[in-house]
Amino acid sequence: MLKDGKNAQAFPEFGPERRGAPVRSYLRIDDQPILLRTPVTAPDTVVVMDATLLERRDTVLGIKPGGLLLVNAPERPPVVVSVPVRMAWVDAMRISASLFGKQIPNTAMLGAWCRVDGIVGQAAIEAAIREWFPAKHAEKNIEAARRAWDAVEVAELEASSASDTAKGSSAFAFLDDYPIIATAFPGEGGAGRTGSWRISDPVVDAQRCVRCGRCVTACPEGVVAMTEDGVTIDLTYCKGCGICAVECPVQAIRSGEVGA
Ligand code: SF4
Ligand code: SF4
Repeated sequence: MLKDGKNAQAFPEFGPERRGAPVRSYLRIDDQPILLRTPVTAPDTVVVMDATLLERRDTVLGIKPGGLLLVNAPERPPVVVSVPVRMAWVDAMRISASLFGKQIPNTAMLGAWCRVDGIVGQAAIEAAIREWFPAKHAEKNIEAARRAWDAVEVAELEASSASDTAKGSSAFAFLDDYPIIATAFPGEGGAGRTGSWRISDPVVDAQRCVRCGRCVTACPEGVVAMTEDGVTIDLTYCKGCGICAVECPVQAIRSGEVGA
């Protein structure tokens, strides 16, 4: 934005402090200085980083008629809206996974948004990525933005009927097969290596594991990963809460003694 000579204001709003909990953040762009300091309640554009959030009505609440709804989704997602909007979707998870080996969809979504919104030019986005990312990561992130620019699809979406609205967005079966993985991973913050807090270790029984991925999404710390060899847990940051063991449908994880 700034590189295109605009004024911008961005700030997040957190709910429960838990990895994977919904987070909302706001962005205002104007040619004039921005003096307003309140959340955006009637957005021109809503960018949804995780399509499962569309099950919550408040995700698209307030979007203006004719506004833009951009979703990170592998295919056109079912959406219930009360006003007609322009909907766009792109498989930013897949793009980022193919480039980074991890699902970090941010710059892919940036490229898609740049294409469909048109407020900020592609050159400005790429210059900003070069400026803010370490040199070794910048080019891949620019490539992610370019691929999403090419891949994003757009459709006009009519306001949903009253019966659709009553039914809600229940047609989310396709997401059952789509792994929603934490998009950020732990690092050493002010609290240090939080694994030292643990009073029990999660122990995975690889023979029992059916690779459903539930523990990956349930871990509030984002320290469980699914690799080719099966489930791995980064004990440097695992706090030993035991949620993964509770969520495992086949009891393939148990809480064991620390270091046993
Ligand atoms: S015990 Fe399981 S759910 Fe809890 S932090 Fe460790 S890996 Fe994550
Ligand atoms: S929840 Fe249990 S079965 Fe599913 S991937 Fe994790 S350990 Fe394996």
